[in-house]
Amino acid sequence: MTPVGAPTRRAKIVATLGPATDDLHVLAALIRAGAGVVRVNFSHGSFEDHARRVQLVRDAAASVGRVVSVLGDLSGPKIRIERFVDGRIQLVEGAPFTLDVSLDPMEGSQDSVGCAYKDLPRDVGSGDVLLLNDGLIVLEVTSVDGPRVHTRVVTGGELSNNKGLNRRGGGLSAGALTDKDRADIQIAAKLEVDYLAVSFPRCAADMIEARRLLRAAGGTAGLVSKIERAEAIVNLEEIVEASDVVMVARGDLGVEVGYAELTGLQKQIIQTARHHFKPVITATQMMESMINNPVPTRAEVSDVANAVLDGTDAVMLSAESAVGRYPVKAVEAMAQVIVGAEKYQIAKGGRSRQRFERKEFQGTDEAIAMAVMYTANHMDVKAIVALTESGSTPLWMSRMRSDIPIYAFTRVESTRRRVTLYRGVYPVAFDVTHTEPSILYPSIFRRAVELGLCAEGDRIIVTKGEHSGVSGGTNSMKILEVRI
Ligand code: ATP
Ligand code: MG
Ligand code: MG
Repeated sequence: MTPVGAPTRRAKIVATLGPATDDLHVLAALIRAGAGVVRVNFSHGSFEDHARRVQLVRDAAASVGRVVSVLGDLSGPKIRIERFVDGRIQLVEGAPFTLDVSLDPMEGSQDSVGCAYKDLPRDVGSGDVLLLNDGLIVLEVTSVDGPRVHTRVVTGGELSNNKGLNRRGGGLSAGALTDKDRADIQIAAKLEVDYLAVSFPRCAADMIEARRLLRAAGGTAGLVSKIERAEAIVNLEEIVEASDVVMVARGDLGVEVGYAELTGLQKQIIQTARHHFKPVITATQMMESMINNPVPTRAEVSDVANAVLDGTDAVMLSAESAVGRYPVKAVEAMAQVIVGAEKYQIAKGGRSRQRFERKEFQGTDEAIAMAVMYTANHMDVKAIVALTESGSTPLWMSRMRSDIPIYAFTRVESTRRRVTLYRGVYPVAFDVTHTEPSILYPSIFRRAVELGLCAEGDRIIVTKGEHSGVSGGTNSMKILEVRI
């Protein structure tokens, strides 16, 4: 159920699923290596593919004895090229290449490829710069002729099926929820994903609409806003407020605002999310070279470490795990880098410096969570145990910097999955709802010791509500010495 012994890593890892993880053994190894959240991208593959992958994840998680959550990622209004006869081509600088909206979607070649967005020839003009595959391929439009957009390759390289296409400076993508997304929300509800990511939201209304559609379909997932267009930066505060989780979606964001500003924006988005007490995921090209190599570059190592030092809850793998040659090694490398980075974060005074950014707490559970963290950071405390139904108390706790593990003790399976994203929070199955202290506390001690989270004689802090089994009712903390 939970790692045996206290965990050594606080920041979490999200791994995107794809052909490279379609084997139960690979997936089990990926989870064992530390992937606590898996992402299913609705942009790639059919309903059957998604359903099969979600089932495979649940089987793999059960076989490894770990809790894993599923994040479904809506396609959004991203414009994509169609497919190539051979799956991929090599584009050479200076060569002509045509985007042809009248071409058969399967018939892409060295000369041209289809595009499902039929208005493309109307939206672009000679001189426009088009960026494909998160900006790795650059094309300049030379002329438009009916359904065909003729270009010259400015930056070449490999181009494979269904890569995204943007115009430099943005302005190509429309409303956030497409008809496909609306259908995919139904699928997400059916698959009972734990998180649902909305691509390209412009404002809070886009998140509110997605939430309404998901709830109407019976889905209970937390909503993730992917910050990836210039307008979302302008409306950042309101989007964050309307989300459960925020993602720094650097692929499209870097194309829309220019990559030079990306690092500053990443820090700003992470700070804003933390300020609003929302978890945040940092995504795209974190270990990109590991698609083909078994070790990351030093730049990638720095990138992952810096995201951790910025305060991200999780770092994400995209193509590295979905189609890369070394999906498990990529997760292992990320896990190592996180541990290395956290060592320095804590050494720099993570325990002693506490900043209370909010003057007034929203409710009792937040007040308790903050009191616990303040106390734990100034005492020798081995573990924090939060008896929880919804996971909200451990979420509040994890917003404070600390190196003390927070265990979400809960009988609710969906809560155990939900907390796999929160930095420093670990799920523990616990179904004792007895309120009698002489029964409850020994049960907690036994469970914690049996899992190796603490030992006899250690000091721990336990939070709970007066009435067990009630969501949002946490109103007490207790400082205890473990006795069995
Ligand atoms: P998004 O904008 O939603 O991130 P993306 O095209 O960048 O879309 P990612 O999930 O980031 O997709 O994955 C990166 C690349 O990995 C994709 O462009 C695609 O080539 C490949 N990939 C990802 N998932 C799959 C899949 N399920 N099947 C095939 N290829 C995939
Ligand atoms: Mg997308
Ligand atoms: Mg991507």
